[in-house]
Amino acid sequence: MARDYYGLLGVSRNANDAEIKRAYRKLARELHPDINPDEGERFKEISTAYEVLSDPEKRRVVDLGGDPLASAGAGAGFAGFGGLGDVFEAFFGGGGGARGPVGRVRPGADSLLRMRLTLAECATGVTRQVTVDTAVLCDLCQGKGTHGNSTPVTCDICGGRGEVQSVQRSLLGQIMTSRPCPTCGGVGEVIPDPCHRCGGDGRVRARRDISVKIPAGVADGMRVRLAAQGEVGPGGGPAGDLYVEVHEQPHEYLIRDGEDLHCTITVPMVDAALGASVTIDGLLGDVSEIVIAPGTQPGAVVTLRGHGMPRLRSDARGDLHAHIEVTVPAKLDAHTRELFNQVKSRSGEQPAVKSTRAAAQPSGGGGLFSRLRETFTGR
Ligand SMILES: [Zn+2]
Ligand SMILES: [Zn+2]
Repeated sequence: MARDYYGLLGVSRNANDAEIKRAYRKLARELHPDINPDEGERFKEISTAYEVLSDPEKRRVVDLGGDPLASAGAGAGFAGFGGLGDVFEAFFGGGGGARGPVGRVRPGADSLLRMRLTLAECATGVTRQVTVDTAVLCDLCQGKGTHGNSTPVTCDICGGRGEVQSVQRSLLGQIMTSRPCPTCGGVGEVIPDPCHRCGGDGRVRARRDISVKIPAGVADGMRVRLAAQGEVGPGGGPAGDLYVEVHEQPHEYLIRDGEDLHCTITVPMVDAALGASVTIDGLLGDVSEIVIAPGTQPGAVVTLRGHGMPRLRSDARGDLHAHIEVTVPAKLDAHTRELFNQVKSRSGEQPAVKSTRAAAQPSGGGGLFSRLRETFTGR
């Protein structure tokens, strides 16, 4: 879901650059952390919104219904925030010092793609075709950004330095600040006759189909890196990397704890007493047989070594832990009641009272499962 960058700045979708800048300045003055420490989050949000809407390329993505930061940043805590320093300096001065022009050819941004995988796909690994909206080299100018045989010329606003100085009055007197040259974007040169396809950026947006191979044993939140499959940089600079982040979908009955799997098996009282065998469909097309020994108690755990999740880049597997719950019939017909009465008279067992401390720690490792259940269901 794309963020509402226009709404964050309170401007309409057809606001021009000056209106966007004005709206941001006004909000930034109100929300600046130096003035309003409590509004730090909102200040970040509006700064991000400005960063996006003041960049024609990113704004175009927004207008197409996308979110230019969703791929680059979201998981990494706004990779785009690197640009925030520039926004700061442009408005609040500071920085200073000679930075010199930035290169026209710069490395491309990394991209982040989220991929939903079932637990079984995490176990077996999977190869998927994905379509990414990315920046590729402009094939008309091969990244040069110029039309035909024209060449870039030195920017006459900054004289090629890539930054411009301005004088600000303050309580301390006049302060000289420098900021990236708005005419050349800090590059120090401009393209008088830009490429007709990419407008001088050296790259164009395109959809690409990429085959992504996810190895067996991945877990939720892991990122698979595909080198140089991210966006091509400005001026045709080297492509960034594409990261594919795994989002593991919950399984119907198997709960993952690292390499181990847990499930619960409900066993009728009679089967717990007499013993039984239950089969579970595994994630790798295998079948696990859980043997319920005669006299199995509620809370008992049956562990099958090597029936858990595959370990990443290894042949080893974790364990499968089956947590046994014993069910008691809620209703008895007359005949069963008679049989139970016979059992009762034979066993001679009586209810007994004991400390709650013991009852709170069921035998057979029920404690771990209780914690797991709390984690996964919030109970
Ligand atoms: Zn071009
Ligand atoms: Zn300039």
